[in-house]
Amino acid sequence: MRRLIACAFAAAGLAAGQPPPQPPPDLILTNGHVITVDSGFTIADAIAIANGRFTAVGTTAAIRRLAGPRTTTIDLRGRTVIPGLADGHLHDAGGGPGVDLSRTRSIPELLAAVRARVQQSRPGEVIVSNSDWHEAQLKEHRLPYRKDLDTVSPANPVVLVRGGHEYILNSAALKKWNITKDTPQQPGGRITRDAGGDLNGELIDRAKSLVQLPPLPRPTIESLLEQHRKLNAAGLTSIRYPGASIEQYRLLQEMARRNLLTIRVSQLMRVGADTGDTMRAAVAALNVRPDEGDEWVRVGGMKLGVDGGFEGGWMREPYAEPWGELGTFTGVNTMKQPAYTDVVRTLNRLGWRVATHAVGDAAIDEVLAAYEAANADQSIAGKRWTIEHGFIPEDDQFPRMKALDLVISAQDHLYLAGPSLVNYWGPKRAAWTTPMRAYLDRGFVVAGGTDSAVVPYPPLWVIYHFVTRDTISGGVLGADQKISRREALQVETINNAYLTFEERLKGSIEPGKLADLVVLPDDILTCPDKLIEQMQVVMTIVGGKVVYGRPPS
Ligand SMILES: [Zn+2]
Repeated sequence: MRRLIACAFAAAGLAAGQPPPQPPPDLILTNGHVITVDSGFTIADAIAIANGRFTAVGTTAAIRRLAGPRTTTIDLRGRTVIPGLADGHLHDAGGGPGVDLSRTRSIPELLAAVRARVQQSRPGEVIVSNSDWHEAQLKEHRLPYRKDLDTVSPANPVVLVRGGHEYILNSAALKKWNITKDTPQQPGGRITRDAGGDLNGELIDRAKSLVQLPPLPRPTIESLLEQHRKLNAAGLTSIRYPGASIEQYRLLQEMARRNLLTIRVSQLMRVGADTGDTMRAAVAALNVRPDEGDEWVRVGGMKLGVDGGFEGGWMREPYAEPWGELGTFTGVNTMKQPAYTDVVRTLNRLGWRVATHAVGDAAIDEVLAAYEAANADQSIAGKRWTIEHGFIPEDDQFPRMKALDLVISAQDHLYLAGPSLVNYWGPKRAAWTTPMRAYLDRGFVVAGGTDSAVVPYPPLWVIYHFVTRDTISGGVLGADQKISRREALQVETINNAYLTFEERLKGSIEPGKLADLVVLPDDILTCPDKLIEQMQVVMTIVGGKVVYGRPPS
């Protein structure tokens, strides 16, 4: 409290030997419950903002004294303020031109949505779904398969896109792309069969390349603006795109130049390169510096991946039956160790940070081996390389991760997919998925997120899940991995700032930092658990500007 008053007085020009008085704030927020997430987790009740930055944090009386004739005042009427929320691994906000399955809650509802699109389509037209749905949202807790899809689309090819790792095809689609029981398994992928040995229509990871879908519409400034508006409404003020095109990066830069951005963006680059030499060429073609950018748009490093997702995470031990196929299936290794290590070492020599998608423990083994090889060439300590997801770390891996000074980019996949992870991996591994308590207890910086549109983007759901380990449809999993609300807030704010080397710039409400904040209707530190999941953001401010909502009334 003492420190807080000192800040307010310094800004008010009342402390001794202080710098020249600052101009009056553009905006003050008063009568709030401000959870600053500074190092002492200080609680204040008012904030002053000038030129897009916090200039003072303190009592309502002290902050009011700073106001000038042109200062806008927002009376928070007791509402809670937290730092702007961040998502360290967000692809997009979902939606798109395909069949929307995100709101279906049973297999019949899902099939009805497909049937409706079939009825509007020309003979032979390929029907594709959006990717933002998961079988755990369905009452049956299972995927729809080829035979289900055949009942609503006997003639039109149907491709259900599920998250980033899987397609499900009907018989007409299998026929269109000549996929039969004789089609060989693809390296880094899998063509799945049902219990009777027939193709069930499921194509995992690199097996998806057997299918050529019409290209997705390219991102435009308009589509990005619409996406960012949705994210602002959920309380997001910073996001990290985990692997996107150079075209998208150039659009984001253009938006920044035109002052159109309402969210701060860090982008990991994603290029198709499977050897050190092709990676070197791809990096040269990007024509960006590995850490270029400013507080609005910056390059965050290079995204790589070594295994599948829910249905293809690469494990040391086989999947639970029947998915384990009598103890033979351990997941999908999408990039083999020698090629991956070659690419990682090349990136390190070029001064690029690496962020690798690794879900299973075997995938983490591969990442650690490559990062250690790169580290032997030239230290990566302090460079904040990451493991993206890190679902199933093992005890013997933590010290190696620690020695490399890795940051963990973790999401709330379990919240959505809990019941199906129990099916795929068995209850013990499912309960250990994304062990937040274990990571934090071992001193790792963990930055939170969602992997949207794989998991829905609301950051309050991430906090709810991390503090309760509750799931949408499967109850609590891994209760021993719960973290405190304070920790969850850090994971969603300052830890994400750390992930992008911006912890001195944002991530907490402190004088001098970027004025990014969220107003909530209830006290997120003391309200009932369920309210964290249910509450609606009142207002979001980025750089001192209201980007969502209106002052509480
Ligand atoms: Zn992802």
